[in-house]
Amino acid sequence: MRVSRLMLVTLRDVPAEAEITSHQLLLRGGFIRRITAGVYAYMPLLWRVLSKITKIVQQEMDSAGCLQTLLPQLHPAELWEKSGRWTSYTAGEGIMFHLEDRQGRKLGLGPTHEEIITKIAGDLLNSYKQLPVSLYQIQTKFRDEIRPRFGLMRSREFIMKDAYSFHANEEDLRNTYNTMHKAYKQIFLRCGVQTVPVDADSGAIGGSGSQEFMVTAESGEDLILLSLDGLYSANQEKAVSKAPEALALANNKPSILETPNQKSIEDLCKSNNLLKSQILKVILTLAVFEDGEQQPILISIRGDQELNNVKLINVLTKKRSKGVLGVSQITPEQLKVQGLEVWPFGSIGPDLTDSILNGAKQWNNKFLRIADKTAAELTNFVCGANTKDQHRIFMNWELLGGLPEQFDLRNAKAGDLCLHDPSQKLIEKRGIEVGHIFQLGRKYSQALGASFTNEEGKQEPFIMGCYGIGISRLAQAAVEQNHDEIGICWPIAIAPFEVIVVIANIKDPSQKDLGEKLYQFLQSKGIDTLLDDRAERAGVKFKDADLIGIPWRIVVGRDAASGKVELVKRSNKQSKLLSSDKAMQKLLEEIFAERT
Ligand code: ATP
Ligand code: MG
Repeated sequence: MRVSRLMLVTLRDVPAEAEITSHQLLLRGGFIRRITAGVYAYMPLLWRVLSKITKIVQQEMDSAGCLQTLLPQLHPAELWEKSGRWTSYTAGEGIMFHLEDRQGRKLGLGPTHEEIITKIAGDLLNSYKQLPVSLYQIQTKFRDEIRPRFGLMRSREFIMKDAYSFHANEEDLRNTYNTMHKAYKQIFLRCGVQTVPVDADSGAIGGSGSQEFMVTAESGEDLILLSLDGLYSANQEKAVSKAPEALALANNKPSILETPNQKSIEDLCKSNNLLKSQILKVILTLAVFEDGEQQPILISIRGDQELNNVKLINVLTKKRSKGVLGVSQITPEQLKVQGLEVWPFGSIGPDLTDSILNGAKQWNNKFLRIADKTAAELTNFVCGANTKDQHRIFMNWELLGGLPEQFDLRNAKAGDLCLHDPSQKLIEKRGIEVGHIFQLGRKYSQALGASFTNEEGKQEPFIMGCYGIGISRLAQAAVEQNHDEIGICWPIAIAPFEVIVVIANIKDPSQKDLGEKLYQFLQSKGIDTLLDDRAERAGVKFKDADLIGIPWRIVVGRDAASGKVELVKRSNKQSKLLSSDKAMQKLLEEIFAERT
């Protein structure tokens, strides 16, 4: 490929729309063009990267015994209604693009393919003798993300590899899950990115196990918690730990604490010489379920702890056996809409009376009361008095009418002690989720009536697994992990080209001839080579080569007359002046060594 024919337009300045480095570099290097929010064109340079990643993924999926297929992107609403996901994916904050056809039938653009594949499996697989089966596809997915951002990291149209497996029993699922785990490690290793597998949330009805593969990077959207012994790593959404000990209050007679203008836990601590862990915090939350039910909740948690929304949603889904559309803190504006009086925000205790909800327009008129374990373990604490500017001190649960139901609802944090070994402390890192493997169980097969005849001759829903990789996100994550101050340093396995031959001065016949000769030679050896044959200044060409991050560069410049060229390695900027023969020999050795 010749740069003169590449439509390459690079940018000197950092585009204002791009916040993180990898996004900036992909725009500046002409790899992507933004068409509208969260929608990008993959230009030829990036397409080569995506193709290389795809090839690695295909090879590893094929050797894991997974069959490639291609499923439709237009999904009939009925399948999603059967699985119970149509409403939650299309209403409220739902992320499925949806439309109606000329006959008025509802359709969605595929954000993921459990429904489609489960229907097909249900139609075609009848007996345990046909199992296990694993299928995968690589295609564009559509998600109307609430906050598309960071370029390919969170876009609304992106490329995913998704795979689904069908099993007659749990053990067989675990075998395939483990095979996939190994294949994923191999894929990321071969792509030249460093990843950490972490325990992940598998939702309330989701199956038994799930792990995400995280590219560690400062800009990552996910917070991950790890132990230094390498035995524990989890997404914060899922992570568990031992909360730090609370320092108990002295035992004293319960009394009222006047707390005017003390709006936060910090204010309360400062003004009354308290520790956060001596305070019982009550979070007023509203949960909206997918059938429209609106439930006010009083969540008690220790003052030094944070509520984990994912854990909360899982608890609610399980308790009510239905999906949660969203949870949010109750605001004074919402009270107005419900036709309710103002509540003493900031001074609420876990025993706030239900009668306060009487007359609410849409809300249930009884609170759901739950507590995080850290709150339940408190024996002597400060809590709101349900009266403006007042708290109560030296309280206990008995005085409050008993303990509400308890769950693990708190965020684990860096510095917390590990459960597997309390002598270890959790540390935190940020990560970009590039893959997710998931033991789904029977959720979809049950809902869609997809079953097979087991060994005893009985009908049983399939046990399923699903396995995703964000191909386009992975390409950008590789840049986030591999760049320097002047541009991208692509890992060679996924670089758009392995070598760039730069002819410093195209008007000099000896440079032009030698450059062309080396370009032809490298191509004949099966090396992915780019030739910079533009009539530009050498400096411009070097800058572009650095920016687009081709791992090896051959500079054919002034020394071409004496048959010498410069061989430069992008990642460490080391360069050597060699005879062109030697340079070719060394380059081939290096590239073939890296390919194996
Ligand atoms: P996230 O938590 O980042 O939204 P997810 O849990 O919704 O991801 P999955 O449904 O498991 O993701 O999708 C499989 C993979 O697809 C993810 O691991 C990720 O790499 C990729 N992916 C998901 N959403 C996007 C997106 N909006 N843009 C690009 N890649 C995405
Ligand atoms: Mg998502």
